[in-house]
Amino acid sequence: MTQLNHKTTDPADISIKPIGIVHSCFTEKFGIPRQPGLVPAATGSIELYDWVEASSLDDLGVFSHLWIFFHFHQAAKRGWKPRVRPPRLGGNKKVGVLASRSPQRPNFLGQSVVRIDRIDQPGGIIHISGLDLLDGTPVIDIKPYIPYTDSVPDASEGYAFRPVHTLEVIFSPESLKVCVAYKARYGRQLKQLISQVLQQDPRPAYHQDNRTYGMRLWDINIRFSINQQTITVQTIEESHYAHTT
Ligand code: SAM
Repeated sequence: MTQLNHKTTDPADISIKPIGIVHSCFTEKFGIPRQPGLVPAATGSIELYDWVEASSLDDLGVFSHLWIFFHFHQAAKRGWKPRVRPPRLGGNKKVGVLASRSPQRPNFLGQSVVRIDRIDQPGGIIHISGLDLLDGTPVIDIKPYIPYTDSVPDASEGYAFRPVHTLEVIFSPESLKVCVAYKARYGRQLKQLISQVLQQDPRPAYHQDNRTYGMRLWDINIRFSINQQTITVQTIEESHYAHTT
């Protein structure tokens, strides 16, 4: 068999058309957990495009979770590098990009397993939770999660151990009132979402100073301060963010 000289074979481009779009509580990147499942209260939906028959979703409801294969659309603008600095290694050590889950990768492809909460048929809307995706993320494919083959209990975790959180999250009385009103109006568990996101400590690994931060979830602006191991949610205000259409 002739040895392919990888330097000369110019792979033909493959054109892929997104099948839908993610609507997510994460309307900005700051605060998105590094993997799915870390913030169970993170809700959103996948809206299929018309060209994909909604009947493609028939019987997906017998599964509890699904894989989303998607395009890191906000990373694509910045290109990719063969070696990256995973935040969990403190932002110093470099590893090969294919030995990471970095968004800055050759084809900007990502994969996340998320919980299926509800499927609206017809309409082709899948309501999901536990996501780690930015609002507007293009969906390339979805597949049912199949435990017997997709989980490998004795696999080694390499440098990607499950993050441990010790931060305590407390709310000012005014911000608690906003959470109660928001839940009454939209049915969204805002307090749980904010708590679970902040427990992940959204600060960049190399920037762990005690100060006040701003973050946005859905159409809500949150201001919080960090002092040692305690996060205090100071204010929560509705902003006017146009969700992905
Ligand atoms: N679970 C996926 C995987 O393993 O391919 C994503 C892992 S990646 C480390 C998760 C991060 O990707 C999030 O914390 C967020 O900062 C970033 N992200 C999510 N959606 C994105 C998008 N559409 N474009 C660029 N970056 C995105």
